[in-house]
Amino acid sequence: MNVSRQEFALAEYIWIDGQKPTAKMRSKTKVLRKDFDQPPVWGFDGSSTQQADGHASDCVLKPVRVYPDPIRGGDSTLVLCEVFNPDDTPHGSNTRAPLRALCEQHAAHEPLFGIEQEYTFFEGNHPLGWPQGGFPAPQLNYYCGVGADEVFGREIVEEHLMACLLAGLNIEGINAEVMPSQWEFQIGAVDGLTVSDDLWVARWLLYRIAENYGVNAKLHPKPIVGDWNGAGAHVNFSTREMRADIAACWEAIKKLEAKHDEHIAIYGEHIGERLTGLHETCDLQTFKAGVSDRGASVRIPWQVGQSGKGYIEDRRPCANIDPYLATAKLIDSVCGD
Ligand code: ADP
Ligand code: MN
Ligand code: MN
Ligand code: MN
Repeated sequence: MNVSRQEFALAEYIWIDGQKPTAKMRSKTKVLRKDFDQPPVWGFDGSSTQQADGHASDCVLKPVRVYPDPIRGGDSTLVLCEVFNPDDTPHGSNTRAPLRALCEQHAAHEPLFGIEQEYTFFEGNHPLGWPQGGFPAPQLNYYCGVGADEVFGREIVEEHLMACLLAGLNIEGINAEVMPSQWEFQIGAVDGLTVSDDLWVARWLLYRIAENYGVNAKLHPKPIVGDWNGAGAHVNFSTREMRADIAACWEAIKKLEAKHDEHIAIYGEHIGERLTGLHETCDLQTFKAGVSDRGASVRIPWQVGQSGKGYIEDRRPCANIDPYLATAKLIDSVCGD
């Protein structure tokens, strides 16, 4: 064999499928042999992803953002795509297309987002590191913990963080969570399209890297029933006006309160299992806002209260949200009339 490294690159095309209510990630590899700076439009069998019928099964993959592939290295890339119909209209499952339009419409408000993605490691049906046939000691020492009795899966988390950085994602940090084998990473603070694209790719990298360890990262909002914290995806949000004056933060909160039910409807499957009023949540039926209040639906961080400007933290979204839907809804509710 006499093929030099420069004569090909691997492009991993990543897209979001049509499963409801929680879509899943899909990907497949294209070997590029020349001009591999520009991955071409591609296609897939939509009848296998709940995106088409068998008799007209072709769906179109349009690359929207290309990242260096930290796993394969070299010239290989991760190619995030939007799904289109063959007639060049956005596919019904393509929630990124409406977000694109909203971001453009409300660009003058310069919306920014930071999303805190929580997740839980599983080995088969069992949370990673939990004793077989029993439970670990109650939640007390696990949050930001250290030591083999408190922390499970750190080698995966570290590898994932480095991969996200090498892929150029806007990742900001990681922490061990309140429930053992539950973790968080944060993406932000950037515009709605960037935070959502980066979050999807960070999820893909997490699944892919954990695969090598025989571990599955789950985004279920209440992975273990009982006195164990659920998994959220707090969405931190600001507009130019909110970053200038806290009064605009309170105005935004008023608008969110009026549309509480509409937000809950797209904040993730099984949300009722997580928003109980316990475990640092506000219950599903109530809308509550406050400075520093981790039992609120929407919290104003204390630094924002102190400096009189900044952002709000919507604590309602679950770990399994579609960030395209959640950021679009926030822009629409707060920046719309
Ligand atoms: P906590 O765990 O205390 O809720 P984190 O440090 O995990 O907070 O997350 C804070 C999030 O707030 C980060 O994702 C960050 O990007 C985001 N953030 C900070 N400033 C802004 C801002 N002006 N607009 C939107 N998001 C912001
Ligand atoms: Mn956090
Ligand atoms: Mn957290
Ligand atoms: Mn938070």
